[in-house]
This record gives sequence, C-alpha cells and structure tokens, in this order.
Amino acid sequence: MRMPTPDAKVIEKRSIIIESLQRIVPRGIMGENVIVDQAGLSAYECDGLSAYRQLPLVVVLPETKEQVSEILKYCNNAGIKVVARGAGTSLSGGALPLADAVMLGLGKFNRILDIDYINRAVVTQPGVTNLSISEAVSASNFYYAPDPSSQVVCSIGGNVAENAGGVHCLKYGLTTNNLLGLEMVLMNGDIIKLGGKYLGSEGYDLLGVITGSEGLLGVITEVTLRILRKPEMAKAILIGFDNAALAGDCVAEVIGAGIIPGGMEMMDKLAIEATEEFVHAGYPRGVETLLIVELDGPLVEVTELIDRVIKIAKLLGSNYIRVSKTETEREGFWAGRKAAFSAIGRITPDYYCMDGTIPRKRLPEVLLRINEMSQKYKLRVANVFHAGDGNLHPLIMYDANKTGELERAEDFGAEILSLCVEVGGVLTGEHGVGVEKRDLMEKVFTEEDLKQQQRLKCAFDPNGLLNPGKVFPTLHRCAELGRVHIHGGQTRFPDIPRF
Ligand SMILES: Cc1cc2nc3c(=O)[nH]c(=O)nc-3n(C[C@H](O)[C@H](O)[C@H](O)COP(=O)(O)OP(=O)(O)OC[C@H]3O[C@@H](n4cnc5c(N)ncnc54)[C@H](O)[C@@H]3O)c2cc1C
Repeated sequence: MRMPTPDAKVIEKRSIIIESLQRIVPRGIMGENVIVDQAGLSAYECDGLSAYRQLPLVVVLPETKEQVSEILKYCNNAGIKVVARGAGTSLSGGALPLADAVMLGLGKFNRILDIDYINRAVVTQPGVTNLSISEAVSASNFYYAPDPSSQVVCSIGGNVAENAGGVHCLKYGLTTNNLLGLEMVLMNGDIIKLGGKYLGSEGYDLLGVITGSEGLLGVITEVTLRILRKPEMAKAILIGFDNAALAGDCVAEVIGAGIIPGGMEMMDKLAIEATEEFVHAGYPRGVETLLIVELDGPLVEVTELIDRVIKIAKLLGSNYIRVSKTETEREGFWAGRKAAFSAIGRITPDYYCMDGTIPRKRLPEVLLRINEMSQKYKLRVANVFHAGDGNLHPLIMYDANKTGELERAEDFGAEILSLCVEVGGVLTGEHGVGVEKRDLMEKVFTEEDLKQQQRLKCAFDPNGLLNPGKVFPTLHRCAELGRVHIHGGQTRFPDIPRF
C-alpha cells in the first residue's frame, strides 16, 4: 500500500506543534489531552484494518467544538495534515494514522445532548456509541435503526463518516437514511450546521455529501438522528439450506414477492460452526447455509409474512426452519450474527473482511466463484453477510506471520471486489473505501469522475490536509483541478510558522 511521503519538515517541527496543541487544548480534569509518548500513541496506531499500522505524529483529544475549530485553523495555517478518529473500528483503514499528521480523537465528545420524542430525534455528540442511542430511548419504546455489528463500540460520528449499515438496514436504510442534521468544523475553522429536526431542506443535499465522506471534508461535532418507534412485534426465522445457491434463490424470491424483511442475513457453514462454538446462539450444526430472516410490524402482518416466507423456503427445499418463540430467543439469533466476525477471529490468527455489494440475483454465482478463489489462493474464507442488500462480507483467513499470506489475502480480496464490480455491483456497501479499496476506485470510476469528486473535496479542504491518502488513488492539488476559491488574508496565527 502506497501512502503519501511524510513531510519531513512537519516531523522536524513536532515539538512546536505539540506546544501549540497544548495551548489550544489544555490539560483537562481527566488528564492530558495531547498524547505524545510512544506507549500512548501506539493505542492509536491502527483501526479495524489492523494489517496496516503507523504511529501518528501526535494525538489531540479536544473537548469542545471551539477547540476543534482552533486545532483545524492552526493546522490549516501551518500546513499540517489531520486525521479524525472516532472509535477506530473502521475496517477499511479510514482512521489509519499518518506519520506527519495530527490525529484528532473525538472520544471526549461523549454526551447525548437532547432526546426529542415529539420530533422523533436525538441530538448527540459524535463520540457517543451507536448502541447508546437505542439504549437511551429504549424505555420509551423507541430505537435507532442502523445497527452495525460493532455497535457496542463504534461511534455515531464514525457511522456518519462511513455511512454505516447493519443487519436491519434492508428495511430501515443506512445511516444516510436516518440522519437529520449535523454540525461540522471545516479545515479553516468555520463551524457549519446542516439540516436539523425536520424533513428535507433547501439547497444542495450537503448532508448526503458528508455522509460517507470518510473524514475528508470536515470534522463532525454534533449529529441529529431520526429515532423510530419499536415495532409491535418482531420474529426471526432460521432457515437452513443444503447449498448457498438455494439460499440465494430464497433471498431473491422473498424480496421478489414484495416482502421486505427487517433483516435478512446469510452465513455459510464455517461461519455457522465458528459462531455456534463461540456464542451458542442456537444455530443448527451441519447445515451448509443459514438465513436469518426477521419480520417485524403489527402482529397480524408478521404472522402472515412468516407463513409466506416459510412457504417459499420449503418450496426451494429448505432442510431446517425454526421461528423464534420468545424475545430472548430472537435476540439470541441476532447475538450470534453480530458476534460472527469475532467468532472467526477465534479460529484464525488474522482475517481480512471484505465489503462488496452485488445485485441480489447474482449471489449464488458470486459465492461459487469466491469458493473457487479460496482454492486458488489456498486461503480459507467464511461468508457472513447482509444477503437482503446483496452486501457481501467474505472473511479471508490468513496468518500474517507466514511469509506471503497477507499479500495473498490482499490479492484474493482485490479479486473478490473486482468480481463484485464485474457483475454490476460496487466496491463497498458500508465499510468505506479508506486505504483498503482506494487503488481499486479506478475500476468503478473514470478519471474525470474521480477528478470531479476531488473538486468537491477542494471546496471543503482546499489545502488537501484532511485525511490525505484515503479514498482517492491519485492525489491532485486543487489548483490542478481548476479554480477553487481559497480563503486568503491574514491568518489568525501570525506567530506560527508555515512549514
Ligand atoms: C467487528 C466489527 C464489525 C463491524 N460491523 C459493521 C457493520 O455491521 N456495519 C458497518 O457499516 N460497519 C461495520 N464495522 C465497521 C465500523 O465499525 C464502521 O465503519 C463504523 O462506522 C466506524 O466507526 P468508528 O467510530 O470506529 O470510526 P473510526 O474507525 O474511528 O473512523 C472511520 C472513518 O470516519 C472518520 N471519522 C470518525 N469520526 C469522525 C468525525 N467525528 N468527523 C469526521 N470524520 C470522522 C475517520 O477519519 C475515518 O475515516 C465493523 C467493524 C468491526 C471491527
């Protein structure tokens, strides 16, 4: 993986940068807000894509949006790169540090600011975990729909930056469909507000632009989310099949019949066995492929839809059907699915999680070809994914200590993603591009497409200092891409040298 060459001049000036950051973000009651020592920095050296590691230049943990604004203004004026970080669970290397960049951690933005049931909205700071939102409104029978499997730890800010999804996004949409507004600090220190507790807004859909922007456009400091009433009833069905092709057909038939399940997930044998061994979710041993299908809504509707789904599954030759009888049992089925990545982590030294999306109809053929690739690369692969959305998560197992295995895993991953594009899909469903898929972007976009996307970045960050090296395979200077208005004039920090 090729990253921008670190700026030696910035690295030389590290002590001046540290002093400046310490002035902006003084020591708080919980201790130092600027981390400079090797041991402290190593906690930030990677995100969920742990094959890549790099110590950041320095970590700063601001507590207010005004501090974020001052930090960004300072870095902008001094030409220092900035990488924002939420909980560091990104699987595409979006939060991978740079040797010459300040890492700006949002961990101290950890308060829910407002719960508004009348407007069905929650206003929160970005460092709050995804699950905390649902927990905060659960007693009043509400919840926040997007539920990534990492929801216990991942932050709402990171969810917006990656447009995170989850097992219930088939029916309720990804983060972008559940986001009402946000506050963001631009690289020049300006604080902007987009959207709010209402539907739609005038002008360009900038909320849509920011969602999934992977920390390249600004630092999110507040988020307004839509919350939903819990459905009257939800039941999950486990449906087993002899082979993945039949399970794929079942997914297509159910959705083709006009049924949109709350969630529709698929696991292959390896994933089922590893998960059952780990969490005892009640999955059947011995089936080749398992679907978890959840139906939710009013009782009569759920009862009817369960019958229809079971009928379709039986017609296709399902060899195992079990409907959850209690809420605890239903939650158990999902607990297994959500722990599946960790379960695979127990049976292999390392795994590489892919995230391509394909048209649902092509599922059987794509799964078959992934198995063929597994033999070609001599690496095991487990499949556990959002089948209803056609969002694949093949987990390629490897051992980084064995020479050449990481490289083989990467080649295998790239071939899977190329296959997704070949069958009419895209490189990412929910994990973002980051560094992982950056060099494959040219498979989907033309050079002109990518330049136009970079022009948009230039409008927010004309000096290209926010999270460089991520998403775009080639970094163009904004000046090369055409005229962009760059704020000039007196800097707020005339005493700070530009490096
Ligand atoms: C076991 C496991 C399971 C997972 N399951 C899912 C899943 O089901 N669905 C799914 O979508 N993802 C999943 N993920 C991936 C990951 O949890 C999500 O991408 C999540 O949204 C990242 O949030 P984070 O707070 O950890 O962000 P980080 O990893 O810290 O950052 C991710 C990106 O967001 C940027 N960023 C973070 N905070 C801000 C901010 N405040 N302002 C601007 N930019 C910011 C960073 O610069 C980086 O580019 C999983 C990860 C793991 C490890």
